Amino acid sequence: MNYILSIDQGTTSSRCIAFDEQLKASFTAQREFKQIFPNEGWVEHNPLEIWNTQLEVIQEVVNHCGVDNIVGFGITNQRETTIIWNRTTGIPIYNAIVWQDRRTSDYCSSLSANWKEKVQAKTGLIIDAYFSASKIKWILDHVEGARLLAENGDLCFGTVDTWLLWNLTKGKRFKTDTSNASRTMLFNIQTMEWDNDLLDLFDIPKSILPEVCDSNSSFGESQKELFNKPIPILAILGDQQAALFGQQCIQLGDIKCTYGTGCFMMSNLGSELMISDQSLLSTVAWTIDGKTDYALEGSVFVGGAVIQWLRDELNFFEKAAESESLAREVEDNGGVFFVPALSGLGAPYWDQFARGMIIGISRGTTKAHITRAALEAIALQVGDLYQCMEKASPAKEIVLKVDGGATENKLLMQIQADVIQQKICKNQEKESTALGAALMCIKNKQTLNLNYNHSEVWEAFVPVLSKTSADTMIKKWHNAVHRSQRWLLDISVEDD
Ligand code: ADP
Repeated sequence: MNYILSIDQGTTSSRCIAFDEQLKASFTAQREFKQIFPNEGWVEHNPLEIWNTQLEVIQEVVNHCGVDNIVGFGITNQRETTIIWNRTTGIPIYNAIVWQDRRTSDYCSSLSANWKEKVQAKTGLIIDAYFSASKIKWILDHVEGARLLAENGDLCFGTVDTWLLWNLTKGKRFKTDTSNASRTMLFNIQTMEWDNDLLDLFDIPKSILPEVCDSNSSFGESQKELFNKPIPILAILGDQQAALFGQQCIQLGDIKCTYGTGCFMMSNLGSELMISDQSLLSTVAWTIDGKTDYALEGSVFVGGAVIQWLRDELNFFEKAAESESLAREVEDNGGVFFVPALSGLGAPYWDQFARGMIIGISRGTTKAHITRAALEAIALQVGDLYQCMEKASPAKEIVLKVDGGATENKLLMQIQADVIQQKICKNQEKESTALGAALMCIKNKQTLNLNYNHSEVWEAFVPVLSKTSADTMIKKWHNAVHRSQRWLLDISVEDD
């Protein structure tokens, strides 16, 4: 039996998943690691802990499958998270600054409107602390001696894929793929090169950047001593792009949405790059054999996290899954709407000053109504994104494919189909992200002669709510969102 191993390095855990010749996930190992919050809005990881937990889970899976049965590794990873290390010693000079970290928000807001336009045209991204560029600048500006080392060519910057590759190959390979590069805000997705203007803007020396390769490149081999035998690294793909590939969204107009802590929607744009005027990001989906596909992306900050909040802070239930039976106790939301802007609102509102709100509460409101409103809020936020994607997408026919932990909730999926008034498809293979990395491995020339079969089983949800009722619900939702917007700003204006 041959296995491809997906190295799935996420925000809260390192995982390794073995895929068999039918591309079924047959064995998984997982380790959580520490989230470090040094200041309000700061989020860090220890890069050595990322590497050590990842190495442990890979070793566990290699031992389980037998090293001789392993064809190769595909890497998929949390994107944008920024690590800088010493080229000679391999030791990080600072913790990894995680994508969620907001420490460079003020700096990003201070950049001129002129730059905002230029950055979007070059990178497809909206200037924000989310992306790597301002995080790299922060490390170079704040870690003693870093700038001098960088200017002397003694430092390496990598997103997590590059860091893992460097460690797997013991410093022999310093590379990334186009999907990860496109999230740094330093990579020009028109020319497919690091952009000198952006490097100047953020004051970052080019020497610290890795080489950018196709997603299905041969990235090198792991060092022999790690697993008793070198294992080839056959693919690298950022996590959301991997989920898009894993869901087989390979045609123009195919859309996937991953429902985890947040919700991440991505649609395949094909080979024509389009810059969105719908507040969506344009990004590289992948590059296969020199051919790049682009994607549009939109995200909801609080998706499944709203259910976590009801569970942990309001003690509504013990397990997230119980939200479904509780919400089913009532026929509808009883007039309650929940705007889960717990950390502001993402696309299409982009309002960091909005805050959460539950409105429409009456004497008869119960936990069940609020829980139902929370599930509806997930679907309504995703519905807003879907509408933007529909408007922006050149495709005539659009199919929404869903994955992620919260898609286990059938009521949520039904509400989702009702909100968008379209059929949605859920893949029975839960591990779309890891599967995407494995599928990318079989696009590598080293594996082309191997025989892989991949069949998919889908569960469909079709709308049962009338269009009129759906429209009314969406109207009320927008009304509620409107009332939650700029909440922090309005208060501070009054205080002044
Ligand atoms: P992540 O990869 O972001 O950690 P997962 O894909 O594991 O997320 O999904 C976990 C999220 O989904 C949590 O926020 C949890 O509250 C939510 N969730 C999990 N199961 C359910 C469910 N049955 N109903 C509603 N939400 C759920």
